[in-house]
Amino acid sequence: MSNNNRRRGGGYQGRNNNRFGGGSSQNSSFGGGGRNSHNSGGYNSRGGGGGGGQEQPDGRLCKFFLLGGVNQCQSSNKPGGCQFARVRRPPPLLFFFVVGGPLARRAGTPAPSQAHALQRVADVHVKGPSSQGGGGANSPLQVRAVCSWKDPQGSVHIFTGSKDGFWRMWDAMTWSLKQEVKMEGEIQALEVEAGHLMCGYEGPTPLIPGVSVGMVRAWNLSNPASPYDFRVSEQLPFAHLQRVYCCKMVVSAAPEVYTGGHEGAIHCWGYDGATNTFPLKCKLEGHVLGVTALCLFNSNGNFLLSGSLDKTLRIWSVDDPAKKDCAAMLTKNNDGHAEALTAVACLNMGDSKYFLTGSMDSHLKVWNASGGCDFTQKCNGAILALCVTSEPANKAVVVVGLVDGTVELRQPDIGFKLRATLSNRFSVGHSGEVRAVCAGDGYFCSVGADAKLMVWQWVAPLPLVSQ
Ligand SMILES: [Zn+2]
Repeated sequence: MSNNNRRRGGGYQGRNNNRFGGGSSQNSSFGGGGRNSHNSGGYNSRGGGGGGGQEQPDGRLCKFFLLGGVNQCQSSNKPGGCQFARVRRPPPLLFFFVVGGPLARRAGTPAPSQAHALQRVADVHVKGPSSQGGGGANSPLQVRAVCSWKDPQGSVHIFTGSKDGFWRMWDAMTWSLKQEVKMEGEIQALEVEAGHLMCGYEGPTPLIPGVSVGMVRAWNLSNPASPYDFRVSEQLPFAHLQRVYCCKMVVSAAPEVYTGGHEGAIHCWGYDGATNTFPLKCKLEGHVLGVTALCLFNSNGNFLLSGSLDKTLRIWSVDDPAKKDCAAMLTKNNDGHAEALTAVACLNMGDSKYFLTGSMDSHLKVWNASGGCDFTQKCNGAILALCVTSEPANKAVVVVGLVDGTVELRQPDIGFKLRATLSNRFSVGHSGEVRAVCAGDGYFCSVGADAKLMVWQWVAPLPLVSQ
């Protein structure tokens, strides 16, 4: 492994075009400053600022619209009701789930306002018919993983994975529980890729009583009756020595699955058509603590990005089927994080490719394809989850899930400015830590320790920021 990734072009990539303001800049160097004085914060005036000097969003979402749609919003002509005079009628509920694709502006509708840009279309208590109780720090119902899948008929399904060992599939039209499957222990990871669901969970060691190990099982969703189990060897009939935090599938003629374990190893599994199994192909070794996040990044070759509790991000060159080298490591010494990494996501802006890392140090960092840190954004708390969605005007919006239950919406093209927060303080967010987020076509999902699955749908573009 080389440590020369700071040198431009000396790492794994050549180009560097920094549109965020250079170096490990703070956001004051790019458009939207971190502090904003001309807003009252939150969703309505009674929300006040709060938070003691924390960054406040530049806009306010209409709480009535957010929770109840246009009818709720218009019926609230009472003190404390909607303060936003012009209400734009949104498309029918779940428009995106049914039709997909970008939202077309209708002729004659008023200009979109940020107040009515987003609606919460689902607030689901994630439990099965026999589950007891609610969420909370030690509740077995707390949700640790979420992903969404559009089936071949075009219907959207949301998968959640919980501490109680169940993964559950939810219908995105009715929000009814379609299926629940019990694993042998706590679920930490769920991913859907190319019609396959992958689940990382803790399970008992077959031969050693009282010791749990990391298991991975995958289902072809069009033939779920015969799942794939991932086993290191006959002697080690499981996927990892410790719990599995993340899975990623590379879809190609020769599919591969990457899994990351709490012991610090990344395992690469290759599909074997002759036996219809995923035997272990190789190990990507280097992390010394748990691997919490995996992300594929394409820029002059294919790379796997891995974030770890050891406070580093590693960039692995994965095009060679037999050999997966670590091309670079990003640490505190080269503008990296001071605490554990919890989330990694890709961000495309025009022709430029970036990736984002989130950490317990409360910072969101933006890295260019050369491995240089282009931007650092301090968020309002430790980060547990990240994903990138696009609002109806096709602007990228970064969804950041925080340890206090807040979801922050930040807009990269204006310096990761905080556009809105979804917070339990205003009765529109999670009451426990946000453990995972994912994005689909016109919507995004968040799950948390409060045993809730929330789904948020874009119904109008965010307005331009006047500065
Ligand atoms: Zn309203």
